[in-house]
Amino acid sequence: MYDLIIIGGGVAGMTAAIYAARSGLSTLIIEKGGFGGQAALTAKIENYPSYKEIDGFQLAADIKAQVDALGVESRSADVRGITKETDGFTVATDGASFDGRAVIIANGVRRRELGIEGEEALRGRGISWCAVCDGGFFRKKKVAVIGAGNSALGDAIYLANLCEEVSLIFRREQPTATKSYLDQLKSFDNIRLMPRHIPLAIKGEKRVSALRVKNLDTGEESDLEVNGVFEAIGLIPDNDLFDNVVALDDHGYILTDNEMRTKTPGIFAAGDTRQKSLRQIVTACSDGAQAATSAHEFLKMRQS
Ligand SMILES: Cc1cc2nc3c(=O)[nH]c(=O)nc-3n(C[C@H](O)[C@H](O)[C@H](O)COP(=O)(O)OP(=O)(O)OC[C@H]3O[C@@H](n4cnc5c(N)ncnc54)[C@H](O)[C@@H]3O)c2cc1C
Repeated sequence: MYDLIIIGGGVAGMTAAIYAARSGLSTLIIEKGGFGGQAALTAKIENYPSYKEIDGFQLAADIKAQVDALGVESRSADVRGITKETDGFTVATDGASFDGRAVIIANGVRRRELGIEGEEALRGRGISWCAVCDGGFFRKKKVAVIGAGNSALGDAIYLANLCEEVSLIFRREQPTATKSYLDQLKSFDNIRLMPRHIPLAIKGEKRVSALRVKNLDTGEESDLEVNGVFEAIGLIPDNDLFDNVVALDDHGYILTDNEMRTKTPGIFAAGDTRQKSLRQIVTACSDGAQAATSAHEFLKMRQS
């Protein structure tokens, strides 16, 4: 029986682990992918205090080293659910189950998919949700990026350094990204903006060879010859598996109070997974610190 089980090894979960271990709680952190979560997949972070600029992978690796040095136990597994027991909770994964007196859910968000023809069939064969992870496979090739926000522009800029041409496809008149991304975009002559276009289908036999798009102003449909399609159309929470123990808002985010407490005493939530207005690394770290502190308080109260 652990004092605390943390679900998700992004920056929220790892910061919670640091605070929990330092307050003396025996702590298990379970991660299904790579520790660091979204932050680890971000090429350049320019708004994390003390670093003018840092590679997200490096930041995540540094935090993980700190977690390890504090003696936190880490497991690689996909959490499938939480069951309330008389003296705590059982966290079930795709392998073993683990028991904890308290739980922090820090499972972040997952990337939204387009849901268009060809996406399922060509998954893993030229379609990607992570430019930093997969961009290298498309060196000197033509790719399309779908989306208009910071993620899409960040991906387009990252890929423009590697690829022959990047077509940025978005429904609106203008990208919705912040000024810093729009300014950077101007220095690339191999990024082609395609406003008022939507993707209709991803085509290819063995691998992606084209993207069918529609011009929303003229109604004209055409095939864009590309070797890769990068989807950056937003993020969604993945919390249905926890709806037996936490309350969710209309969008599926976990409802907490300011101390990161959920509706079930002993279960806390931190980071992008919870309902909040600013989803960033600093706020995820802050949530993690608060959640672990609240978990410590909860366990102390139960003992007394
Ligand atoms: C492209 C992009 C660029 C960004 N740039 C910046 C930036 O410059 N500055 C900034 O401050 N923020 C930035 N952000 C936002 C920032 O990365 C996030 O707000 C922050 O990393 C969220 O951390 P988190 O720990 O809450 O969630 P996540 O990073 O999503 O971590 C959650 C972790 O939980 C794991 N997990 C999920 N489900 C399970 C399960 N069932 N079992 C086990 N593990 C599970 C996931 O694999 C993941 O590792 C960016 C985000 C993106 C997508």
